[in-house]
Amino acid sequence: MNKVTKIIASIGPSCSDKKTLSKMIAGGVNICRLNFSHDTGNTQGKKIDTIRKISHDLGMPVAIMIDLQGPKHRIGNFQTEDKYKLTPGQKFTFDDDSTPGDGTRVQLPDSDVLKSLRPGERILLNDGKIEMQVDEVNKHSATATVIRGTEIWSRRGFNLPDTNLETPILTDKDRADLEYAITKSPDFVAVSFVQRATDIATVRDFITERTSAPIKIVAKIERMNAVENISDIASAADAIMIARGDLAIEAPFEQVPAISRHIIRECRKLNRPVIMATQMLSSMVDNEFPTRAEISDVANAAYLRTDSAMTSEETTIGQNPVNVIETMAKILSFSDNDAIANPYDWSRASDMPENDWSRSVSSMAYLNKAAAIIVFARDTDAATQISCRRPDIPIIAICNDEIIANQLCLPRGVFPIFNTQLFATRDAFNAARIFGINNGKLVIVDEEKVSLRTVE
Ligand code: PEP
Repeated sequence: MNKVTKIIASIGPSCSDKKTLSKMIAGGVNICRLNFSHDTGNTQGKKIDTIRKISHDLGMPVAIMIDLQGPKHRIGNFQTEDKYKLTPGQKFTFDDDSTPGDGTRVQLPDSDVLKSLRPGERILLNDGKIEMQVDEVNKHSATATVIRGTEIWSRRGFNLPDTNLETPILTDKDRADLEYAITKSPDFVAVSFVQRATDIATVRDFITERTSAPIKIVAKIERMNAVENISDIASAADAIMIARGDLAIEAPFEQVPAISRHIIRECRKLNRPVIMATQMLSSMVDNEFPTRAEISDVANAAYLRTDSAMTSEETTIGQNPVNVIETMAKILSFSDNDAIANPYDWSRASDMPENDWSRSVSSMAYLNKAAAIIVFARDTDAATQISCRRPDIPIIAICNDEIIANQLCLPRGVFPIFNTQLFATRDAFNAARIFGINNGKLVIVDEEKVSLRTVE
C-alpha cells in the first residue's frame, strides 16, 4: 500500500516555481501550507493559483492551507544594530516607551502584553535562549531579572509560557491576510497561538461572515494553556497541528513527546485529524541525507498513526525540497506498511467511542479482511471519523465537490477522488479499480447505509 500518513509541505522561496511544486506533489505532497508570517497578498495568491493548476493537470486533489501569523510578539528596536550584553542576575525593563532601547530597557510594542504580565512569570526571548523572570509590573513598565542569556538585540520574538494573554487571536495583519486569503478559496486556515475554544469561534465567525465555503480551521497547539484546553479546542476546531517549534519553548522540552501523544489520543476520540509539525527533516535545509534522529522522528509519526507530517524550512528555504519530500515519503511509506503488517491491536482502541458506527465500519472491514472501505462523501465527516478509528485499510472517498476532496487530503489513510460521475452512479467497483483493487471485499458506506460487496 502507498503511504497512509499524509505530507504537508510548507511552500517558500525554494519551491514556489511550477516545476519544483509539480515534482513535490508527484512525490507525495497532499497539502501545501502557505505561511503568511512571511509572504502575503498577491505573492501567496500566485502560489495558490500554481498549485491549483498542477492539481487539475495531474487530476490529483491537493489542498491549500493558509497559516496566519497570529499574535507573535516581538520586542522593539535598540539604539544600535549591535547586540547588548546581558548578565544573569541583572534587572531589565520592558515598557511602552518607543524610544530605542539599550542594555537596561526596551519597548514592548503591544500594550496588551504589559497588561497581561504578572510577577513571577517568565519571559523567554530569542527562541528561549534568554530567560527572564518578572519582578514587578506597573501601568507603563515591567521589570524582570535575567535568569539566562548573554545578549539581546532588536525585534527578537518572545514567548510568555506562564501568562494568560488577553490579546485578540486575530491581529490587524491576520484580518487583512484572512480577508485576502478567503478570496482565493483555501481549504484550510491554520490559526497560530490559540489559547481557548472561543479563539476558534472568533475565526470561524470572521470566515462565515465573508463566505459560505466550508473552510476548515486548524488550531495550532503551541501554548501550554492550549494543551490544557485541548478537548475544548479540538471540539471547536476541525483539525489540530502540534506546532512543536513554539511548543518546545513554551512547554518544558522534555514533555513535548508526551504532550504530542496525549494530543493525538484526544483528537482521535473527538474525530479530529492531527498534524505533526516542525523540524522533522530540518538538517536537509543544507544536507542531502537526514540525520538518524530525523528518520526516527518521521517514522514515529507513522507509528503513532498521526494523520499528517509537515515540513518547514527544509522545503521553504532548503537546497533540495523535492529530495526532502521523496525522503519523507520513503520513510513514511515503509513505516506505515510496517505498522500495518503488525496486526492492529483492537484492545488499544478501548478508549475510543463505544458502539460508534465508525468503529463498527472499521471492525467490519478488519474482520472481513476488506481490501478497501469506499465512502461516498457528501462532506468530510464519515471518512474522517472512520480514519480516526485507524482501520489500517485504505479509505477511498468518492466526492462530488472539489473542496471536500481537497479537505480529505488531511486524514490518515483517506484517498479522495473528485469525480462527479462515480459519485452520481455510486460506482464503488470502478473507484476500487482506480486504486488497482481488482478483487477482494469492499465495505461501502453511503450515507446511513453500510454494505459488504465483493469485487471480481
Ligand atoms: C511551530 O511553531 O512549530 C509552527 C509550525 O509555527 P510557525 O512555523 O508559524 O512558527
